Amino acid sequence: MMKAWQYHEYGSVEVMKFATDVAIPEINNDQVLVKVVAAALNPVDYRRRLGQMKAADPPLPVIPGLDVAGVVVKVGSEVKGLKEGDEVYGDVNEKALDKPTKLGTLAEYVAVEEKLLALKPKNLDFVEAAALPLAIETAYEGLERANFKEGQSILVLNGAGGVGSFIIQIAKHVFGASKVAATSSTKKLELLKSLGADIAIDYTKEKFEELPDKYDVVYDAIGQPEEAVKAVKEGGCAVSITDFEKPIPPPGFGFVLTSSGSMLTKLNPYLESGKVKPLLDPRTPFPFEKVKEAFTYLESHRATGKIVIYPI
Ligand code: NDP
Repeated sequence: MMKAWQYHEYGSVEVMKFATDVAIPEINNDQVLVKVVAAALNPVDYRRRLGQMKAADPPLPVIPGLDVAGVVVKVGSEVKGLKEGDEVYGDVNEKALDKPTKLGTLAEYVAVEEKLLALKPKNLDFVEAAALPLAIETAYEGLERANFKEGQSILVLNGAGGVGSFIIQIAKHVFGASKVAATSSTKKLELLKSLGADIAIDYTKEKFEELPDKYDVVYDAIGQPEEAVKAVKEGGCAVSITDFEKPIPPPGFGFVLTSSGSMLTKLNPYLESGKVKPLLDPRTPFPFEKVKEAFTYLESHRATGKIVIYPI
């Protein structure tokens, strides 16, 4: 038996219950069992709890949580690249919108497909590693899908959020952007610069779509699709990760992340060299007992970077 957070009905944070008698998940042949050390929260976790993904969801109860960092304690018969004792991290749901996982990471153990995991970067602790997977993979996949190239310019809407903090860093330090601009409120402008933004736009004072600067790519990580496309340069594009709520007009497109351990492995040199770093909210980590408080904070839309639950 293990401890886990669960919900048996859709609703606010109050539907979440802490259980101590949940069965430890069985693993399939292509999976490993991970002892969870730290888990990060993402907006998809509360959107789902609110019932916004009901159509695809398995029958309740659900254990929420997609991001994990932990230790492999059991290995399926088809697993080739991982062994017991390996320190791993990843987003445990390959396609969160199509087939949401029933047994997530806000639990002592989680069963995960080997292909969704990577070895934890040696320089990062479990809290830092848990802050990466879903957000950094989304940032990277969006830039690839936008065909972002060295020397191009980009505007990031919501540069201080979980995903945006990685878009800025990856655009600048992995792709070699010529110019990175990003939006946030006044008190986070310096943070945007420290992540690699050349231009920090205060959305409480300026409308980015009315400024003269236009960009090869506008990455909408907040839900301003109509405005985003207005800041695109001739021949450029806008990419949206909130497209399922508010469709983005051309030249914009939306996508939903496909989780992949190999993407994390590809980014590993940038993580181990410290060129790309996890951004932890100052209130992180929240202990396992305080998951409701952590979600309440995430749902305030004011978190800076990632919220991690630790120790589990
Ligand atoms: P966060 O909860 O981390 O974002 C919080 C940040 O939003 C805060 O730092 C806040 O900064 C900022 N913010 C709030 N309002 C504005 C605004 N008007 N302009 C700019 N910044 C603002 O979100 P995530 O980064 O985790 O996720 C972003 C969105 O992307 C969510 O809607 C999420 O569901 C979606 N998503 C989609 C994925 C996909 O595959 N399609 C994958 C991952 C996320 P401040 O205090 O300065 O306002």
